[in-house]
Amino acid sequence: MDIKKPYTPAPDRYEQSEQMYRRCGRSGVLLPKISLGFWHNFGSVDPYERSREITHYAFDHGITHFDLANNYGPVYGSAEETMGRLMDDSFRPYRDELFIATKAGYDMWEGPYGNWGSRKYLMASLNQSLQRMHLDYVDLFYSHRYDPETPLEETLQALVDIVRSGKALYVGISRWPLEALKTADQYLRERDVPLLIYQGRLNLLDREPQEEGIMDYCADHGIGFISFSPLAQGLLTDRYLNCVSTAEGTVSGIPAGSRMTRGKFLKQDMLTPELLDYLKHLNGIAQGRNETLAEMALAWILHQRGVTSVLVGASSTGQLEKNLRCISAQPFSDEEV
Ligand code: NDP
Repeated sequence: MDIKKPYTPAPDRYEQSEQMYRRCGRSGVLLPKISLGFWHNFGSVDPYERSREITHYAFDHGITHFDLANNYGPVYGSAEETMGRLMDDSFRPYRDELFIATKAGYDMWEGPYGNWGSRKYLMASLNQSLQRMHLDYVDLFYSHRYDPETPLEETLQALVDIVRSGKALYVGISRWPLEALKTADQYLRERDVPLLIYQGRLNLLDREPQEEGIMDYCADHGIGFISFSPLAQGLLTDRYLNCVSTAEGTVSGIPAGSRMTRGKFLKQDMLTPELLDYLKHLNGIAQGRNETLAEMALAWILHQRGVTSVLVGASSTGQLEKNLRCISAQPFSDEEV
């Protein structure tokens, strides 16, 4: 891609609106069923041209929601810097067509104020994020994780004040336990800054937010739910299906360049022979539906009660193209579910 070339979005990008967007809880916001995450593939270690190409492809196909966090990269902060560059090079004229989220909650800078849930950290972090992304405000700001040491009221009041300051339009929480979610819902509602969305990991291999009652709580209280790592970082795709189990009880043939060979978050020992068998079994079900495993895995999430969107990662436009096919996936039979 010629990075000097101006970007003109596809004129038909909203043609499939009816199929593409879902209301986020009981709010005025519609989110695309597929949203794009910047955790991997958008850092300073990644080629900018490819990042730009992926975001153009996304926006051209109605993906209006980009999800970031202060420390996405690597290096920390660099995914937001990429977003800032993308704003300057491509998206500034379309700012009002984009729903951009960022978060703070994990380790970001050294010392006592660069982690967890204090007001000091959240406020400073958002200011830094806005600078890196070349934005005046974000559409959505999250507390990225529950902090058992900081009073919930301190974190939540910081979220309220952030909205009142105009630096974020909505707030969300990610990975908070159910009881803390209930407190957040009530606290924020009483201050007229209703909780827009909960971000949690739901996929065919991990149903914790469902099992813990988080999804039902969100659905019952008008809070949206967005699933991160919906493809279990690539396990629920064809990426690892050609691997083979060895006599030593390990798995060989991990494809070069895959997240499992590069990152520290998807470790090779997570792919056991048992898991590989299960993935192949799921792939058989997908084939029976004339779908790829990825397509079925995403469609399954979108089929669950209360889900607003799935937040995919992609290291190429080809992956995004395949993942978008889930929008028109066929319904699930009782037997498949
Ligand atoms: P996924 O589960 O969608 O995994 C994405 C990875 O899977 C890609 O980078 C690619 O890996 C592989 N992949 C995707 N599609 C295909 C395909 N069609 N065929 C083959 N391989 C494919 O999501 P992520 O784990 O990346 O998470 C998504 C987003 O969720 C993050 O970017 C972030 O915004 C958010 N998140 C939030 C968290 C939180 O705590 N709130 C935690 C984690 C994520 P490869 O590199 O091998 O090509």
